Amino acid sequence: MLQFEIVRNSSPMSEAVRAKAFENLGFGTLFSDHMSVIQWSTDKGWHSARVTARAPFSLDPASSVFHYAQEIFEGMKAYRAADGQIVLFRPEENARRFNTSARRLAMPELPEEDFIAAIEKLIGLDSAWVPGGEGSLYLRPFMFASEAFLGVRPSREYIFCVIASPVGPYFKGGAKPVRIWVSQDYTRAAVGGTGAAKCGGNYAASLLAQAEATTHGCDQVLFLDATERKWIEELGGMNIFFVFKDGSIITPPLGTILPGITRNSIMTLANDSNIAVHERAYSFGELQADLSSDRLVEAFACGTAAVVAGIGELTHGGGSLKIGTGEIGPVTKLLREKLIGIQRKELTDKHGWLRRVPA
Ligand SMILES: *Cc1c(COP(=O)(O)O)cnc(C)c1O
Repeated sequence: MLQFEIVRNSSPMSEAVRAKAFENLGFGTLFSDHMSVIQWSTDKGWHSARVTARAPFSLDPASSVFHYAQEIFEGMKAYRAADGQIVLFRPEENARRFNTSARRLAMPELPEEDFIAAIEKLIGLDSAWVPGGEGSLYLRPFMFASEAFLGVRPSREYIFCVIASPVGPYFKGGAKPVRIWVSQDYTRAAVGGTGAAKCGGNYAASLLAQAEATTHGCDQVLFLDATERKWIEELGGMNIFFVFKDGSIITPPLGTILPGITRNSIMTLANDSNIAVHERAYSFGELQADLSSDRLVEAFACGTAAVVAGIGELTHGGGSLKIGTGEIGPVTKLLREKLIGIQRKELTDKHGWLRRVPA
């Protein structure tokens, strides 16, 4: 296991300034005082693990990440429970998925214990940055190719880093249903591609479709499969679920989509509540028919940032479709409350999903 050198920030944000900033938390604009960094090279392996003052990197302009996008990331949250304890939600799953992404992008794997230590040591120094109440500390582990070389092959040097950003509730003023734009011109992932890896390149490729969603007055974009352009896959950064009149739910199967930890947790919680979960291909045509016959009554998106977001309306080239009443439905609400309840230590964590961060 790596030993981390700890170098405290000599000019951290004052408590008063932070308290002021905490009054109006957005998403991803405010950052904590420190960062964790670990370096990798072919000859040394993982080395120089440290937690230091958050600061810019100095990188050679030939660093291969700038040219060939060898970059992966993760997203997770630390919560402050009512008893003051700081907890992480299933961080082992993030560590495992990070390595799956690393393998796909021909990058070195980081031992899971070092991934988690980098996060816990950062929270250890920046524990005052974990908001209470509905807020949380969003953690962003990432890794990029830092070797200065223009040839096309896997880099021989990488930097792993974790930064932290205190965030408020994703939906201010309570959860409102979101509007989804169904992209029929762009796709996000093809069989054999990088759809199941959490890499920056997938996001770069989704931004134009997301901009199109915004132009059509929608909040998020929904992608269909790249081969037949008919099977529902997922949103730019969230997985999707459909709820039917008979109480069952459907979510698209893994393969070209990102295997969300929230998705997996929702499936388990649905099982716990005797809700039948089907992981199966669901087409946009079926969805339209199921809306016409009132068989489809709710839809929601899920991911770490927004947790569970009810979908009120779908818009596509041919018009808009209201889902159910257009409001957040009871099954969406139930699953959302169960998940948030566990994350905040308000409900029993019977699956052992929480990991207490050492004080
Ligand atoms: C991160 C991500 C998700 C959600 O994953 P969680 O583990 O639930 O946060 C879903 N889709 C994409 C494309 C993502 O990048």
